[in-house]
Amino acid sequence: MHEFAHIILKHKMVSREPKTGLFQRRQQDEDEAVYLGGCLQIPRRGLLWAKQKKMNISQIALHYKASEEMVKFRSNVIGIK
Ligand SMILES: [Zn+2]
Repeated sequence: MHEFAHIILKHKMVSREPKTGLFQRRQQDEDEAVYLGGCLQIPRRGLLWAKQKKMNISQIALHYKASEEMVKFRSNVIGIK
């Protein structure tokens, strides 16, 4: 979802990492991709649905094929516990 977010947002590669030779993007673009990638993987409405169903973090992670860290991240962004 992170890479989809880069594509959706039309982010460009700006430089190459000298040691690895891998292309890099601006930090702001990376931050935007983290946010949008999370939204795509676990939409706000989907997370609210899961909470209403009294699903725990592990169950939500399994349902959305996400890490538990991503569930916690999205919960924090949305502002629910
Ligand atoms: Zn990225």
